[in-house]
Amino acid sequence: MAHICIMLFDLHVHTNFSPCSRLSPAQALHRARRLGLDGVCLTDHHSLEAARVIDQGPQPDGLVVLVGQEYTTAQGDFLLFGKLPQLAPGLSAPQVLDLVERAGGAAVGAHPCRRGRSLDPQLLSTGLVKVIEGVNGRNLSAENQEAQKLGLRHDLTMVGGSDAHDSSEVGAVATLFEQPIFSQMDLVEALRNGRCQAHWVADLHAADSLGRSPTVCAV
Ligand SMILES: [Zn+2]
Ligand SMILES: [Zn+2]
Repeated sequence: MAHICIMLFDLHVHTNFSPCSRLSPAQALHRARRLGLDGVCLTDHHSLEAARVIDQGPQPDGLVVLVGQEYTTAQGDFLLFGKLPQLAPGLSAPQVLDLVERAGGAAVGAHPCRRGRSLDPQLLSTGLVKVIEGVNGRNLSAENQEAQKLGLRHDLTMVGGSDAHDSSEVGAVATLFEQPIFSQMDLVEALRNGRCQAHWVADLHAADSLGRSPTVCAV
């Protein structure tokens, strides 16, 4: 029987390279390990600094760590992954999305229906947004429900991320991949192909563990 590889990643975690987070990269990784996640993406606001203190890819214990960034525009916030050129501050969403597309990266519309920080609906008609957070750990449940409807209506790929700013929030929401993700390239490919889905760990605060062991996937 074919081996099915399922990897669970938290795609949206802020470390203290973000001015609003107290979480050190080491604490984020520690929490992800304790929960049994397979991977975590550190996505600081307009910063890739975490990549200076962490070797990206599988850590010695198998946890996969990748560094992206959350880029804020007037038309919404985006998690950006892949090998991207240095992005100047103050770009518009179409400019960012176009740059990411041309660089062969992937962009995820973060918390697209959050009050005050939502995605400009006009962007969806441009076709530039292909992936959104269907579930974000810091959203109200009504905001997540709206995001789900939005994703279904526009046939978008939907992922999940905790948007953690402290340790207890890491892993509250994750993304399930049905293929191995060990590198930025793997992640970008899966996001672009839509081979992933949001995975909501609703009762994380009651349980200290997801009750699972990390997946062992062949490299
Ligand atoms: Zn923040
Ligand atoms: Zn965020």
